[in-house]
Amino acid sequence: MKYRIAVLLACLMPLCANAEIRIFACEPEWAYLAEEVGGDLVETFSATTAQQDPHYIQARPSLIAKVRRADLVICSGAQLEIGWLPALLQKANNRKVMPGSDGYLQASDFVLRLGATADIDRAKGDIHPQGNPHIQVNPHNIVAVARVLAARLARIDIDNTKAYEDNLDNFLTRWQEAIAGWEEAAANLAGKRAIMHHKSWVYLLDWLGIQDMARLEAVPGLPPTAAHLSRLTAEFADGSADVIIRAPYQHAKASDWLSQRTGIPAIVLPLTVGGTDGATDLFTLFDDIIARLQGAMGDA
Ligand SMILES: [Zn+2]
Repeated sequence: MKYRIAVLLACLMPLCANAEIRIFACEPEWAYLAEEVGGDLVETFSATTAQQDPHYIQARPSLIAKVRRADLVICSGAQLEIGWLPALLQKANNRKVMPGSDGYLQASDFVLRLGATADIDRAKGDIHPQGNPHIQVNPHNIVAVARVLAARLARIDIDNTKAYEDNLDNFLTRWQEAIAGWEEAAANLAGKRAIMHHKSWVYLLDWLGIQDMARLEAVPGLPPTAAHLSRLTAEFADGSADVIIRAPYQHAKASDWLSQRTGIPAIVLPLTVGGTDGATDLFTLFDDIIARLQGAMGDA
């Protein structure tokens, strides 16, 4: 955000027109990462907020206009945006950001994707047939995407290659230091047991060594059913899980229902920047996630 303000001020001066590379991000985490790597050379926009389910948004005309003017589109991919991004790209008809071009970046192509093998959920209509797209909640994945993003920006805007490289180095220095701090702060969470509303947190649990016990959705992408929740109540009546996790845009009803019947605490975690008041950027996103996990099931 601070960069946007800086750019705005700079543009009150003459000769600043068209200085920025315009970046269209499907989700807030990629817009914030682009601000880190692009600095004041880029102008970022996020198609969704942390309060929206990125699986399901409308391909609004205002979004088409944004894609039409974009120099780079960065999205999670792995079919997360399959319900709306293809329509935006087609209607915007912007050669610079078509799939296969330097201006089209699917973040999940550059990380080890979990859940990509054929499993039982796929046959039942899993909305993650190409593996889980919610990659942003493992900070090591952010490192991989930051590197690719810097390389793409350098290709699109070759004159500023050095600036993108410097921004990347600066970001990664701070980020790696932050990762070490998070891993130390969350060491006691390894081995804890989590139930999640949707498979939004598989990368987070994998990173921290937390066990994935169950999901409130019987089929990924479909709302929890009464029959499935009853089964979970029976299974976890002895309190054999430590936390129930949902994202801000997922209804509290199912979490609360199970929590009341099992005594397992139910919490909201920010899935991206802006998901909670504390998650104001990528760094505080992970600060807040770990603080909330500790609050629910830490030893202290
Ligand atoms: Zn999903």
